[in-house]
Amino acid sequence: MTDARAAAKPAAKPAVKKPRARPAAMPEAAVAPASVASHTLAAPAHPKTPAHPKTNAALMARREAAVARGVASAAPIFADYAENAELWDVEGKRYIDFAGGIAVLNTGHRHPGVVAAAMAQEARFTHTSFQVVPYEPYVALAEKLNALAPGDFAKKTLFVTTGSEAVENAVKIARAATGRSGVIAFTGGYHGRTLLTLGLTGKMAPYKNNFGPFPGDIFRAPFPDARAGTTVADTMRAIDTLFLTDAQPDRIAAIILEPVLGEGGYLPVPTELWQALRALCDKHGILLISDEIQAGFGRTGAWFAIEHSGVAPDLITVAKSLAGGYPLAGVVGRAEVMDAVGPGGLGGTYGGNPVACAAALAAIEAIEAEGLLARSAALGTHFRARLAEIGARAAPYRMWDIRGIGAMLAMEFVTDFATAKHDGALTKAICAHALSRGLILLACGMHGNAIRIMVPLTASDAIIEEGLAIFEAALAAAVAEQTHA
Ligand code: PMP
Repeated sequence: MTDARAAAKPAAKPAVKKPRARPAAMPEAAVAPASVASHTLAAPAHPKTPAHPKTNAALMARREAAVARGVASAAPIFADYAENAELWDVEGKRYIDFAGGIAVLNTGHRHPGVVAAAMAQEARFTHTSFQVVPYEPYVALAEKLNALAPGDFAKKTLFVTTGSEAVENAVKIARAATGRSGVIAFTGGYHGRTLLTLGLTGKMAPYKNNFGPFPGDIFRAPFPDARAGTTVADTMRAIDTLFLTDAQPDRIAAIILEPVLGEGGYLPVPTELWQALRALCDKHGILLISDEIQAGFGRTGAWFAIEHSGVAPDLITVAKSLAGGYPLAGVVGRAEVMDAVGPGGLGGTYGGNPVACAAALAAIEAIEAEGLLARSAALGTHFRARLAEIGARAAPYRMWDIRGIGAMLAMEFVTDFATAKHDGALTKAICAHALSRGLILLACGMHGNAIRIMVPLTASDAIIEEGLAIFEAALAAAVAEQTHA
């Protein structure tokens, strides 16, 4: 090490600035949970004033010239600053964020504990590659996930960087552990954009179009759909048929399913389906994988959404809210299954980045310390009641369904209740009207006609009410526009 670098080396762990407490006079302090009161970081002098003001339009023009067309953005604005459930664009306009960066921010933008932990780690080292020189945050986080994951058996964990990579690795591990190659996935399931995970993803446009052929030995089962009259029994019969026609059960390594279909429309897996799949897997020696990338880390009011069913999967994929805004993903599973792969068989240069692991440990601590599992359940009840009320008032006979678990909720829009035709156009218009009024919303569903709620669990009651009021105005405006068109 050179002298300059030696001088710069901290003697002890660097002191981390304590987050400022929110002033008592702030209106939401009266109603916010303890978590919200602590959610103010020491920030630049005027954080909500863009340092280098630019227009969204000018940046959009540069973006269109420089960035590949295939990467779409839901909102035609550019982020400048964000805190908890609020975001400011480069023009200084404020938005309430009900999208949470696609379910990544259960602990909010820049949670003080998460940012402090990441900064403390950055002051020591940011990368060694765990495969070259290991470090404690990776091990500590693995220990934590092994303890939190459901199942009364020994577990081990692997860290990677993205959700797709976690799913790829879960399949690799399942193949190595079983000596089999087949995987069964479901209609409407979403497991990522890499080629193997696209093969598992059960929705064509826009994810899969023009990218085939996809890897072989992937079979699809129908997800139960009350609306189409498909029951859990129908799903299980379809898998029996699959075993007769296309897939040899003792050549199937794994069945993979999201506990709440995410991109597929926030449809929860019925408990009976998890139970039936567990029994089927046990009968044929197949491994059960719960893809918790979107549903995990408190979103549904439990650490892992499959816990609501009482079923323990063999492998769990995690990402998104795991690390409170830092890129980190992983696979947690039965120790003997995880250890089926020999040394050197798993990994990647960046997998389990130390800053992301430190952030994840702090995010988990925040979920525990701030009671965010209970907060998710309470938010879920509140949102259900308020959304039903708003739907009945602002869009009679257009809000077909409000569904999900805890604060992982979506509502679906139709043209009318008699035909119940999916209304993707109305859904798009609601999101656009909401954005122009200062609320970020994101659609989902096989027909793009559902809007999902992924607001940080740390959001104050006041911010949530403000967002719901904007949602009501946007809904009314979108319906009026359609009526007059
Ligand atoms: N699985 C699920 C359930 C997801 O929701 C996602 C991302 N939306 C993925 C996998 C893929 O994760 P990533 O985008 O980080 O690759």
